[in-house]
Formats: sequence, C-alpha cells, structure tokens
Amino acid sequence: MSNLTSLTLKAALAGLADKSFSSVELTQAHVDAVAAARPLNAYILEAPEKALDMAAASDARRAKGEAGALDGAPLGIKDLFCTEGVRTTACSNILGNFIPTYESTITSQLWRDGAVMLGKLNLDEFAMGSSNETSAFGPVVNPWRAEGSNAKLTPGGSSGGSATAVAADLCLGATATDTGGSIRQPAAFTGTVGIKPTYGRCSRWGVVAFASSLDQAGPIAKTVEDAAILLKSMSGHDAKDSTSLDIEVPDFPSFVGKSVKGLRIGIPKEYRVDGMPAEIEKLWEQGIAWLKDAGCEIVEVSLPHTKYALPAYYIVAPAEASSNLARYDGMRYGLRVDGANLTETYEKTRAAGFGTEVKRRIMIGTYVLSAGYYDAYYVKALKVRRRIADDFDQAFQKVDALLTPTAPSAAFALGENADDPVAMYLNDIFTVTVNLAGLPGMSIPAGLDHKGLPLGLQLIGKALDEGTLFSLGGALEKAADFRAKPTRWW
Ligand code: GLN
Repeated sequence: MSNLTSLTLKAALAGLADKSFSSVELTQAHVDAVAAARPLNAYILEAPEKALDMAAASDARRAKGEAGALDGAPLGIKDLFCTEGVRTTACSNILGNFIPTYESTITSQLWRDGAVMLGKLNLDEFAMGSSNETSAFGPVVNPWRAEGSNAKLTPGGSSGGSATAVAADLCLGATATDTGGSIRQPAAFTGTVGIKPTYGRCSRWGVVAFASSLDQAGPIAKTVEDAAILLKSMSGHDAKDSTSLDIEVPDFPSFVGKSVKGLRIGIPKEYRVDGMPAEIEKLWEQGIAWLKDAGCEIVEVSLPHTKYALPAYYIVAPAEASSNLARYDGMRYGLRVDGANLTETYEKTRAAGFGTEVKRRIMIGTYVLSAGYYDAYYVKALKVRRRIADDFDQAFQKVDALLTPTAPSAAFALGENADDPVAMYLNDIFTVTVNLAGLPGMSIPAGLDHKGLPLGLQLIGKALDEGTLFSLGGALEKAADFRAKPTRWW
C-alpha cells in the first residue's frame, strides 16, 4: 500500500472523509514504511501498537460522524515534545529513559483533532546542531543522495528526523522546533516545507527547553497547504506558557492559493554573503522572478545588522541553554551517576550525560553570563538583538515580506563539518535573524542543485502575519512545481 504513504496530508484527509480507506489502513501502511526505513534512523522510537489503537479509535469516531480536523492522519513527533507514557529523550543520554507523566500542549492539540502518533523522531541533542550529528542516537541519514554518489548526507538539524520522515514518506507531517533554523534548514535540505511561526503562536509547554526566548515549534510537511493545516492545530493560547499569545488563530489553510498580486517583497542585500554558491544566488533570482510573475513588486531593502546576528545568537542561545539545562542534575529524572558526595554526583552525572556540543554550549553560556563578562557579552548581544529586530521593523514599513535563500548550501556529507563548530554555525546565517526578532519564517522547496539535491527559499513575514507567508509560499510552490522525490535506497 505504498501509494497511501505518498499522499499529501490534505489528500489523505480527503480519502479518509470519503471512505476510500480507513485510518487503520493508512496507519498500517505508514507503520510498515517506518519499519522498512530503519537505515535512515529517523525514528528513535516506533509506536506501532499505539498508532494502530489511535487509528482504530479514529475510525470509530468517523463512523459516528465525529471526525476532527486531522482525524486519522498519522504523524511523527520530534522527540523534544513530551508525550505522556511514551519515552522522551531530547536525544540526550541525560534524560535516559524519561517517561513523561504529561503531554505537551501542542501534541495534545494534535490528538484533540484526531491525529495518530507513529513514534518519536531523532534530533540533535537538545536541538543543538545543524546536522543531526549531535544526537545520542546517532545521525539521521538524508533520504536524498547526490547523483552518482552513495555518500551519506545530513538531512540538516536539529529537526533532521522530522524532515527525513516527511521526505521519505514515513508520516504525513511532523512536529519540529526552531531556535535558530531547525525547522527551515532541514526542510531546505530534504525538499520539504517548514514554517517557524511567530514567537508565542504555539505553546512551549511540554517542549524540552533549549533557549526559551527563541524556541518556537512548527510543522514540517509535504506541501504549503499541509503545513497550514498542521499549524492551525498546533497554534493557540495556552495559560501554561506565559509567552503564548492570547489571540485568535487564523484559518491558515484559507490563505494558500490566495492572490499575491500587489504584495511588496523585500530583498535584503546583506544576505548576498561571500562564498555563497552561484546556484543558490541563481535560485534566489529565480524566486524573485516567480514572485514578479505572480504580480508582486520587488524592493531592495537593507538589514544592516545582519552580520552581527550569528555572534549574537551564539551568545544568547547558549546563555539561555546553560540556565535551562541546570535542571539536569541527576536528582529528579533521567541519568544519575553516583559520586562520593552531592557535588560529585552532579559532576559525574552531567559529565556522563551530556554530549560534547551540549557541554560546549553550557560552558559558553556560563562564561557569557558570569559576573565579569555579563556586560561585555550577554548585554551586548541583547543590544544587537534589539537592533536586528529594529532592522526588520524598518524594512516592514516598506514591504509585506522578505525573500532570501534558506541556507547557504545544499545538504552536506555527514562528518563534513563535524569537527568545526564555526563552519557548522555558519549554516544558520539566514535563519537566526528571524528567531532573534521573533518573526515567522517559512522554507519552500524551490529547485535542485547540479548534483540533484534540493534547495530551499525562505520567506520572512511580519509578526503574526503567517497568513501572507502561506499565500506567498503557495505562489512559490506553484511556480517552482517541485515534484522531485528521493530515489529509494533504504
Ligand atoms: N543550528 C542552530 C543551533 O545549533 C539552531 C538549532 C535550532 O534551531 N534548534 O543552535
């Protein structure tokens, strides 16, 4: 039944509604696909029994005429979302076999709307990374391969499992999170659609914290419309997250397909960085031409503080991470390595439980927050952050949205940047600004490079204006007509 796994979410929901197939059939097809795709290492926990139980319950609801917006649709869940009674690890040894006693708000909203959980998806440890190589469960392998090569490529990170599961038809859509690019860069590397909504659109409650002022969840999906359907279910005010916004959730799917005629699109000149491959530059030009053809007006804009965004991000994010990760002390949950006294127990537990990249971030974060360096680093980074947000405010006086590449390269080989943290951090050059300013950003698959690997374009919107991004994303999707799929080798 492999044709059931190649459906879009929208088409699958239509098939369920007109009884072409049941959720049990649809879910079984995905369970089989997941089991056959273990070489990709996308799922770190498969939950076939739970999935089929949820599917049967969905079929029963539908028979009674009580189906919700996502009823019967099998999804993958990034293992950063707490799932009640189902192991949640953030792909860190320090959480060990942690089994949450509660459900994250986002996943509970997905189940409220009838979705089915296939299992938990791999990610970089605590979502820190751009290649999924910092996971305690080993890297995810991108289903895409360069033409004529068997080399294993990264699907990007940190939501590498989510992006791979969607690209390889191992779910109809997946949850993901984005602190500096972790939804958009993996989407670009795998030919999928990803949107990070405005900060506060989705509740962070029950999502393992990395950098709380930047973290935001969103979907990775096969199409712009699928992303809109998923984001609608994921969004909404939650009293349990004080940063969640108490505003109405727009009907995101209704924006897909709307005319974009007359919209003004900003092209930030600072995003033409040195050393960017000519193909990415060309794709960007192509994206501009597509939007022009769709009736948009193209305007050059300036975001002058862009060059300070990465350094500011790599101060703010580790600072918040060092504070958030202080809770992993071996006392309440997860791993404990006993020492001769309490301090030694803390030290041994944290030394054994955290991986190298997480330790690096905790050390950088602790350093920039220390009494002697707080003003020089942390406070300075916050000032830069303000300037970056001001740059966007200025630009959005003139334009309705911005168009940029999503990432400075296509998927690279596993291991290629693993020993060079700075080279790895450069992947986030076009995405971190959006998190620092709290804005919505979307990646849309727009073409293939000369090796046949997917490339993405990024749309950046005004705060709370995801609707315009869905309209523009729909227009780009239509123009790009990206239908390529990875050739199955797993
Ligand atoms: N690659 C970035 C980092 O390592 C972003 C990660 C993310 O968005 N979770 O911090």
